[in-house]
Amino acid sequence: MQVDLDVLLDLQEKDIAVRNAEDRLKALQPKIDSLDAALSEAKAARDRARESAQQAEERRAELEGRIESYRVMQERRRQRLEWVSGAKEASAIMAELDLARSVLVKEEAEWIRSADQLQEAEKIVAEAQAVVDQTKEVQASERDELAAATAEIEQEIAAATGVRDAAAQQIEPRMLELYRRILRGRAPQALYPLRGGACGHCYTAVPLHRRQQIENGQAVEACEACGVLVYKDRAE
Ligand SMILES: [Zn+2]
Repeated sequence: MQVDLDVLLDLQEKDIAVRNAEDRLKALQPKIDSLDAALSEAKAARDRARESAQQAEERRAELEGRIESYRVMQERRRQRLEWVSGAKEASAIMAELDLARSVLVKEEAEWIRSADQLQEAEKIVAEAQAVVDQTKEVQASERDELAAATAEIEQEIAAATGVRDAAAQQIEPRMLELYRRILRGRAPQALYPLRGGACGHCYTAVPLHRRQQIENGQAVEACEACGVLVYKDRAE
């Protein structure tokens, strides 16, 4: 098919410029991902520590509530003891008081343990938070560099895309559609030069009659094997 080879090659060159910039942007992603992974790991450890501390705090509060209600009940028993007249009833209340006192002692010991556990859990939270802060600090300069590089490449992509779109407008619509259809396939480029009588992409020999069309200059032929457009490289 007859084409204006120069405008097609111009479009391809500008397409490659866009793609190169996009590839450079993609190349930054693994670095960003690894920073994110390290930070979220530190945050997850801190969140787990916070959860443990929260549970320890609830346990302590629960014990406090229970101890308080035991105390209220003991106080009531003491008051009852003051008003009873019979010795039998009095000794029954005394026995209740003793029993409840031993329960209270156990609960208080348990409360002390829970307070220690809470303190320990809060220490672990503080340590885990320090790791989060430290990770952020260590990552800061690399993140700044990556953000600057990202912004720069994004600007470059925007500019290159504008240039590419302007070049595409120079192409006849049906030709442009064919060009884009080829790019949607496996070949990274739509146009390849003839190389020693073969397609420059897949190296399948181009039949002689088609090769002659190409050799004439302003014509391209679709490769029968891979579908790219083959043209004559003027430098060859
Ligand atoms: Zn081919």
